[in-house]
Amino acid sequence: MKIVILDGYTENPGDLSWEGFEKLGDLTVYDRTPADKIVERIGDADVVYTNKTPITRETLDACPNVKFIGVLATGYNVIDVEAAKEKGIPVSNIPTYGTDAVAQFTIALLLELCHHIGDHSNAVKNGEWTNNPDWCFWNYPLIELAGKTMGVIGFGRIGQRTAEIAQALGMKILAYDAYKNPELESESCKYVELEELLANSDVISLHCPLFPETEGIINKDTIAKMKDGVMILNTSRGPLIVEEDLRDALNSGKVAGAGLDVVSKEPIEMDNPLLSAKNIIITPHIAWAPKESRQRLMDIAVDNLKGFKEGKPINVVNK
Ligand code: NAD
Repeated sequence: MKIVILDGYTENPGDLSWEGFEKLGDLTVYDRTPADKIVERIGDADVVYTNKTPITRETLDACPNVKFIGVLATGYNVIDVEAAKEKGIPVSNIPTYGTDAVAQFTIALLLELCHHIGDHSNAVKNGEWTNNPDWCFWNYPLIELAGKTMGVIGFGRIGQRTAEIAQALGMKILAYDAYKNPELESESCKYVELEELLANSDVISLHCPLFPETEGIINKDTIAKMKDGVMILNTSRGPLIVEEDLRDALNSGKVAGAGLDVVSKEPIEMDNPLLSAKNIIITPHIAWAPKESRQRLMDIAVDNLKGFKEGKPINVVNK
């Protein structure tokens, strides 16, 4: 069985092993594949794995030997799953692998906004402490979270885990979700409608998927309903936020800080409005990427192929 991985670098830049796949067939791994090389590289392979490289109907027409497609990610919008279905090709994804990592990263963004540890460490190394007249100094307001309220938009796996950690820091949780599970409510965690969440949260963290109804959920109108000095976190998907509106709110001080791991167009373009905003931290979509969660992803991707080989495909998204 010939297996081709079109863009394996972000999953395994060299610190993991592809041996699980090697045991299942004749494996070729490309770090990345430009659009004009996709068909050539798939060639007569039986199995194709992709992370972000598109697999279109035309590609499938040109590569008739493909029998199984695996995604090295949860999202599979890069694949024409309907075209694959018509051709009898199952497409399997990785439903979940990084809940703890993404929740931890969300809290890391929040703690960085509260303490600016990186900036303060750099200031010390640059001599600011040495030359300071007092025994300590801080360059930003320092913020204690205990007693404050976090609004979680999208109370699924990552939203709930983030809320658990926030509660351990003494925060109260207001959760907003399209589907409510009353068993998740407690003294310090309540479901509310979006308006109530916006009006009462000191921190708002986005964990809902990107759907037409959630696109732009953070915009000038919803920001206007928030508390002055709110902090906004987004480790979900960039288009949940209207970036010009967030920039304006950060620059006016209405929003005191934002921590984002995702933006509307990735990699970020240098004219993205958020790059000119005050009090913002932007990281390059890395919340998912600790080695532990990439290993979990690798194990599930291998299991998906084993399932296919054994005639019992799992995690199929185009049944
Ligand atoms: P999940 O499916 O467990 O949770 C999503 C929640 O959003 C569900 O409870 C769902 O009911 C809710 N929801 C759906 N539509 C909604 C709406 N219109 N309004 C409010 N809530 C709505 O997903 P998850 O595993 O918690 O992942 C959440 C998001 O995190 C994913 O959609 C993905 O975009 C993102 N993610 C980012 C990274 C990263 O590296 N930054 C990694 C993994 C996942």
